[in-house]
Amino acid sequence: MNPTEWFTEQVPAAGTAFSLKIKNKLHEEQSEFQFLEMYETETFGNLMVIDGCTMVSTRDNFFYHEMMSHPALYTHPNPKTVWIIGGGDCGTLREVLKHPLVEHAVQIDIDERVTRLAEIYFPELCESNGDPRAELKFIDGIKWVKDAAPNSVDIIIVDSTDPVGPAEGLFSAAFYRDCAACLTENGMVIQQSESALLHLKLIGEMRDAMSSAGFGHLQTLFFPQCLYPSGWWSATIASKADLSKFREHDSANKPFETVYYNVDIHKASLAQPEFFKKAMALK
Ligand code: SAM
Repeated sequence: MNPTEWFTEQVPAAGTAFSLKIKNKLHEEQSEFQFLEMYETETFGNLMVIDGCTMVSTRDNFFYHEMMSHPALYTHPNPKTVWIIGGGDCGTLREVLKHPLVEHAVQIDIDERVTRLAEIYFPELCESNGDPRAELKFIDGIKWVKDAAPNSVDIIIVDSTDPVGPAEGLFSAAFYRDCAACLTENGMVIQQSESALLHLKLIGEMRDAMSSAGFGHLQTLFFPQCLYPSGWWSATIASKADLSKFREHDSANKPFETVYYNVDIHKASLAQPEFFKKAMALK
């Protein structure tokens, strides 16, 4: 392939790669934390790449952003305060703010440049940044959670890059213990948990770390995301409270539009594949 016409993300350990045909390179820079690239693609709109990994495209980001937000927000009985750790493209923040119960949503990304570039290349994802309930912070999410007071947040959404570089500590038992300490009674963490096909060991380790931090209830949910390795992604919810039910009636009557999420998709995303149940020793 001609590298000037295609962007390719290789996953050498899996022997796979995903490519998008590129029209133009729009921007590149080395920020204080990571290498940021923006492309215009032939068929997927704009594309954000961080340290060589695809993050967001105009065409398919709705799968990820909707599934990182709505299942958790419709599982919590009364989500008033939500923190998004990472999420600098602002797409998760936009989805969270669609919920009328939410009174305060804070996005905490370590790298302000990601948000500044998203404002230019993904303005639709940033359209709720001016909502009076929204607050943007540019600091390390690990420190933010460590310094937080007990009982200060209902839902923590960890919308981070892969567990390397600045995001590595976001997948640790120490981080989950700090999350457990600042969550309210029915509080929960939801974190992107990579691909069950390619990263099963990582998901197992992440679930073990969440359990060891005191979260007795875990729920991994599955959804498509063609931009990410294998095209099949997951997120894992951890809580001290029961996760077996969600606000099904509210979800079925959601007062906002989505592209992918609805009550049936929510239910379907909770179904656990046979190999996953076996690997995670689930009943
Ligand atoms: N959906 C994407 C994915 O899974 O590939 C994640 C997108 S979002 C752009 C990831 C963000 O996590 C980046 O903007 C990065 O700056 C942020 N990030 C990484 N480590 C962080 C940390 N320790 N604290 C806060 N933000 C962090």
